[in-house]
Amino acid sequence: HIYLDNAATTPMAPEVIATMTDQMQNDFGNASSTHYFGQQAHRVLDESRHTLAQNIHAKKDDEIIFTSGATESNNTVIMQTAKKRQSLGKHIITTAIEHHSVMKPLEYLETQGFRVTYLPVDENGLISLDDFQEALDDETILVAIMMGNNEVGSHMPIHEIGEILKDHQAWFLTDATQAFGELEIDVQKDHIDFLSASAHKINGPKGIGILYVRDGLYLDSFIRGGEQEKKRRAGTENIPEIAGFAKAVTLLTPEKKAAERDRFAGFKRQIVDGLRANGIDFEVNGSLAPDTLGHVFNLWIKGISTYVLQMNLDLAGFAISGGSACTAGDLEPSHVLIAMYGQDSPRIKESIRISFGTYTTSDDIDQFVAALTKIVQRIQAKQQREKE
Ligand code: PLP
Repeated sequence: HIYLDNAATTPMAPEVIATMTDQMQNDFGNASSTHYFGQQAHRVLDESRHTLAQNIHAKKDDEIIFTSGATESNNTVIMQTAKKRQSLGKHIITTAIEHHSVMKPLEYLETQGFRVTYLPVDENGLISLDDFQEALDDETILVAIMMGNNEVGSHMPIHEIGEILKDHQAWFLTDATQAFGELEIDVQKDHIDFLSASAHKINGPKGIGILYVRDGLYLDSFIRGGEQEKKRRAGTENIPEIAGFAKAVTLLTPEKKAAERDRFAGFKRQIVDGLRANGIDFEVNGSLAPDTLGHVFNLWIKGISTYVLQMNLDLAGFAISGGSACTAGDLEPSHVLIAMYGQDSPRIKESIRISFGTYTTSDDIDQFVAALTKIVQRIQAKQQREKE
């Protein structure tokens, strides 16, 4: 089987597994304990926090809170900002193509009297800064705009948004879950107040993530108990996972990220050229611009349903996705493709997402192109026979 669904999750790097195994076997202490074992665990916690803080150019290590993942981080910021700042206004701005971990809490807030603006996107999956500026008003308390999209890879103008918000009361949350492994992130330069990410998208373990909280901003935690994470998230820290996350981050040097982006761009060309040479009728959903996230690729295979494509590829040994992992299980069309192309576009029912990772090879891509070609030709022949 060939795995081409790295936007859903990635296999863990052997180095990460080794680090975590070592932690579980040797440094099993509770980081809050004052004895030797506790201190050992605390040292790992501090070092890991430092690694994460440096990676996104945070000013202080304490700006990083370890969470169970980006879902928790996004929920925390949205729900707690609403609770804390509602006296300043009840308006929140987001985009039409956010992940459900942003969408769902916002939809809930709408039932509680909050006003949410969902910025539209163009065919490249990008918002317009004019629309954004127009939506921003005196009642806006939060702006939640993702850094990179998980279905089509569009890369939002985060720096420009941060600049606009610098002198506005609204706090700025960016979900960097997909961008984290590819882009150089600088929360200070981009004036980001809150940032979410998950380890399992970068060859780290599942169930661990970060929430960056700009120094000076305070949110209540919805997890109350011990005084861990400076009272911002109670519960014994999951040191093996935290250490695994930090290890995954250290493997992703700026040079490695740049090289991977080049390699992934090559994979996209290989697929486009290959399918074209084989006479397959398809279009790319979103953009092939260099600024787009390299690992996410979305294709419209004209005339064949997502479900049929996905099932046949699975039978042929290829793991791809019909959209995001969360919507792939049901047959609901992607809200991202709908926002980009409209409810009536055939694309929303005939598209697949292919996503690359550290262990994807050019040979995998060759095999994928050959398999997809065979499947499309077989189904088209059948459709033709049925017509006659
Ligand atoms: N945000 C984006 C853009 C994602 O792609 C994902 C993962 O699917 C998440 C948030 C949620 O991450 P997790 O499931 O690790 O909490």
